Amino acid sequence: MNGTRPGGAGRASFTVAVDGPAAAGKGTIARAIAARFGLAHLDTGLLYRAVGLRAAAGEEPEAAARALAAADLDRPGLRGEAAAGWASRVAAIPAVRAALLDFQRTFARRPGGAVLDGRDIGTVVCPEAEVKLFVTASPEVRARRRWLEQGGEAAAVLAEVQTRDARDAGRADAPLRAAPDAVVIDTSAMDAEAAVAAAAAVVAARLPPG
Ligand code: C5P
Repeated sequence: MNGTRPGGAGRASFTVAVDGPAAAGKGTIARAIAARFGLAHLDTGLLYRAVGLRAAAGEEPEAAARALAAADLDRPGLRGEAAAGWASRVAAIPAVRAALLDFQRTFARRPGGAVLDGRDIGTVVCPEAEVKLFVTASPEVRARRRWLEQGGEAAAVLAEVQTRDARDAGRADAPLRAAPDAVVIDTSAMDAEAAVAAAAAVVAARLPPG
């Protein structure tokens, strides 16, 4: 770090890693932090979702990960639950994860700073990140948030959340875990504004003086 502030003139790299389970509030926090501190933002779940959709269409998952292109991130259905289910299946394949690593690391170290949200940013992709946040909430609260967004049957939404949690936390390669040096933010009893304020306070305290 050369004493300059990310997002300002003479931009240094500054990485904020935001990890946690589905619907804990990672995306909301990551977008808000990026906007507030002038950092670029990458939702790494979209990469796995895009590979998942290509695999669902019959492509071999590792080849799909290697061939991933910007247009894949505009695919219809990318943010739906079916894509999420496919994402968590292909995400358990080490070769898929390896194929996506360089892109994520390069993004993380871009001049001006970056926020990446996902499951393994602070543990595997950017173990050297200047800020690591682990955003979590109870499965019931997370399922309720998903249900409010997408509707459907509440019990089925909870089951989907729990299945995905179990797959993400139980896989051998890069399982969902808080890094030992992550700051844990439990959003179960917080609204979005309070969660963003808690995260912003951690980032502000770590920004290099400038
Ligand atoms: O964050 P999102 O719900 O979009 O992620 C979809 C799936 O992609 C997750 O359930 C997880 O299996 C996978 N993923 C991952 N590592 C990341 C981001 C997402 O394994 N860094």
